[in-house]
Amino acid sequence: MVSGTALCLACGLCCIGVLHGRTIVAAEEEDRIVNLGFQVERMGDQLFFAQPCSKFAQNCCSVYALRPVSCQSYQCLLLKRLLAGDLRLEEGLKIVRQAQAMLSEVFAAMPEGWSIARMRDLLKNDSLDQEDFLTSVDQPAEAAAILNFVMLSWHLNKYFR
Ligand code: SF4
Ligand code: SF4
Repeated sequence: MVSGTALCLACGLCCIGVLHGRTIVAAEEEDRIVNLGFQVERMGDQLFFAQPCSKFAQNCCSVYALRPVSCQSYQCLLLKRLLAGDLRLEEGLKIVRQAQAMLSEVFAAMPEGWSIARMRDLLKNDSLDQEDFLTSVDQPAEAAAILNFVMLSWHLNKYFR
């Protein structure tokens, strides 16, 4: 039986705030997750902690055996395809490496004071033509960072979401 361990150990993109802005916490495990040191927040009925996850360290989950249920059950599209036999591990690893290289380009061009969360917020809801986006990108360095992030987002949308 195919395992996703090798793919996920080489990846971690679902823990660093690139694919998602938050991780859902089930109400019944709120106390357990808070006791692990997570900063659990609430919006309406929904509990979550913000990404990038504070428990992602040295390229892996530092609380792996105790991670939230939503982390245990999460499968991105790439992992689903691997587990379904629709993708070879080598192909999946290549796609992960491409995403990581694109992410490096994003960080290399990112202006001081910016973050992945800021760029994700700028681009969410197809806001490319919105005024706040356009007024934010008035310097070549900022435009380069956004362009790199758009290319990364395209890659993530195609292979991971
Ligand atoms: S993004 Fe997908 S492949 Fe990468 S660690 Fe998360 S589930 Fe695994
Ligand atoms: S708890 Fe572990 S698996 Fe869940 S988001 Fe954080 S680092 Fe990733």
